[in-house]
Amino acid sequence: SADSTNGSDGAPPDMAAMQAKFASIQQKYTEEASKRFRSDGLAQYVDLQDAKDARIHSLGKDPWVDHAALNAKTPAVKDGGRYKFVILGGGYGGLIAAVKLIEAGLVNGPDDLRIIEAGGGYGGTWYWNRYPGLHCDVESYIYMPLLEETGYVPKQKYATGLELREHAERIATKWDLHDKALFRSEVTDCRWSDEEEVWNVAVTENRGPEEGERKLNIQANYFFVLSGILTIPHVPKVPGLENLGGSMFHTSRWDYGTTGGSQEDQNLTGLEGKRVGIIGTGATAIQVVPKLAKFAKEVYVFQRTPSSVSWRGQKETDLEEWKTKIANKKGWQRERRYNWVTYLNNCAPPEQVNMVGCGWTEAPAYCAIIGSPNFGIIEPTPEKIGEHVGGLLMLDLPRAEKARARIDEIVKDPETAKALKPWYPVWCKRPTFSDEYLQAFNLPHVHLVDTDGKGIDSATSTGLVVQGKEYPLDILVLSTGYRSPAYGGLNPAKRTGINVFGRGGKSFDDKWDAQGASTLHGVISRGFPNLFFGPTAQFGQSPNNTETLDIAAEHMTHFIKKAEEKVGGLAVIDPTVEAEEGWAMEAVKRAANLAALSVCTPGYTTSEGEFNKPNQDPAEMMKSARMGIWSEGILSFMKVLEEYRAGDLVGVDVTPRK
Ligand code: FAD
Ligand code: NDP
Repeated sequence: SADSTNGSDGAPPDMAAMQAKFASIQQKYTEEASKRFRSDGLAQYVDLQDAKDARIHSLGKDPWVDHAALNAKTPAVKDGGRYKFVILGGGYGGLIAAVKLIEAGLVNGPDDLRIIEAGGGYGGTWYWNRYPGLHCDVESYIYMPLLEETGYVPKQKYATGLELREHAERIATKWDLHDKALFRSEVTDCRWSDEEEVWNVAVTENRGPEEGERKLNIQANYFFVLSGILTIPHVPKVPGLENLGGSMFHTSRWDYGTTGGSQEDQNLTGLEGKRVGIIGTGATAIQVVPKLAKFAKEVYVFQRTPSSVSWRGQKETDLEEWKTKIANKKGWQRERRYNWVTYLNNCAPPEQVNMVGCGWTEAPAYCAIIGSPNFGIIEPTPEKIGEHVGGLLMLDLPRAEKARARIDEIVKDPETAKALKPWYPVWCKRPTFSDEYLQAFNLPHVHLVDTDGKGIDSATSTGLVVQGKEYPLDILVLSTGYRSPAYGGLNPAKRTGINVFGRGGKSFDDKWDAQGASTLHGVISRGFPNLFFGPTAQFGQSPNNTETLDIAAEHMTHFIKKAEEKVGGLAVIDPTVEAEEGWAMEAVKRAANLAALSVCTPGYTTSEGEFNKPNQDPAEMMKSARMGIWSEGILSFMKVLEEYRAGDLVGVDVTPRK
């Protein structure tokens, strides 16, 4: 339809009408967000692993582990063993780091590398999540790691969860990592020994119901915490949930025993004749709902906040195009990643060809949380911040309006269409992409139960209650997400749930709690020598997580390689106080850039609104500022790292290991 405010009819936009529309939309954003703020913030959830109720706790169990097969193998890790590198996490992050260390020539002996992984196999996110409909939401050509090195050609533009898990196995095979991992094993504590200059790592291996637990203590010269950002599933504390009749499971532990089918065969025949409810409408539910709709008798989608759903454009990989236009030269994957991210950083040169050409590249305002070279450093005055946030909201408006208009075009029932509209800018929740989700609501047996921002009231033995009405269910799918990556002020130890003690027995949590994020380049921290962690605070960010993981692993490897060259063997690497504080100040200088989060509806990005609480305590304000990222975007960040790497480990104390 012709709309004079967005110029979609080709006419120049009417600025006065645009301003009026902008103001009314901002008001709507504020109203909708304020419906959703809750005083309990993150405490509204319980992590499955910490749930006191046995049923809720058991929802976190690993459904995929094959204890018999693993018990038949010689464990990869010996109690009391010492290894050069120990990596916590067998997801893409851990695998990429292992490959970088190997390729850098740092792994030579049989005991040089071990991976400790809580799951029963490799893959991380793609090991745990096997729900029907699972795909990556970033193009597989740029998301799947090490495509050039493995020579693998993804089958489709967006790979399935199965293909993504198999790719993890492929990486493990190519770099001979299968006998290097201890699966179904959790790291609980790690302590730096000042005497021996090694990490002592406590691990609990779960050998299954027959053999029980095995406790191990191992040593590592270099210890990596690559535990991911969305790893610990949680559920809302809905009164009575534990007593709900029928089956109930979390999407990250899909129960194919109940639904029928498998990850390989997505015929969910167990749903036939069943009333199925799903709580949550985030990126996971967007993929699951169309699959439930295909098989269940009735589907009830319980919504608190709608996702923004743009077009997807899934397609088979064309091998000719792959050879000639995509994987056509060395370094193509990095180049394609950079090309993609320039659109999200709102800095794509106009003459540039958009290589990926997906819905993400239509979201320039996503730079609000990943940065842009256009930002520079924003003065933290109300005027400058207002200008910055206003500019971003304006930048997002055409995309946001288009996403809302798309709902009216697809969803036939006007009330349902209205309730499905997201009223927040793109950076507040992960944008989603689907050509099936909105369409599912046109089916007579798919019902949207909109809770108007309030969520589920309670559960009974037969169903869920929303605004006084009970919805009887046979099966409930909990698509309710994970512990926020921002949990504990972005502290990687807290996010992982491990205790870390550095020099002099000092606790990592105590340091982070007292002074806020304290790192050099987001990956190492003073007083915790030879500890490398997955970056969030004080790093560059991209919504293509493997890009971030790749850059981080490259940098960690550099620290070690260079340090070992310097001392001629095993090294002890610790950033200086000055370098760490200098780096923290880079984040502080840029803190105002992240002010756009202040307009957000609650979600995991804002720690369920906890970031948005007014805070006048200068010490707390400083801690929040230190949690910032490199706000000129990931490409600028990479340049900073490259320049640093041309130098001689400036700001890092390097000594030979005693
Ligand atoms: P993970 O894959 O989470 O792996 C970390 C591993 O550490 C886990 O296997 C965990 O079991 C293990 N671990 C944690 N604590 C311990 C401990 N104490 N001891 C031993 N092991 C431990 N990102 C994108 O860019 N694009 C996408 O399309 C995308 N889709 C996603 C879909 C879903 C359903 C989810 C949940 C996330 C998605 N992500 C996506 C984010 C995704 O997590 C990253 O892309 C990436 O896979 C993370 O890899 P990782 O190795 O850092 O973390
Ligand atoms: P999310 O945290 O995004 O979603 C949880 C959902 O549960 C939200 O819709 C939330 O509502 C809802 N919810 C929570 N509590 C209640 C309640 N009391 N009553 C009703 N509803 C409630 O988790 P997801 O698993 O969907 O996604 C997590 C992240 O994983 C994504 O953001 C993305 O980064 C990644 N992912 C990527 C995918 C991909 O496409 N490849 C697929 C899946 C996940 P509210 O919004 O109001 O809080």
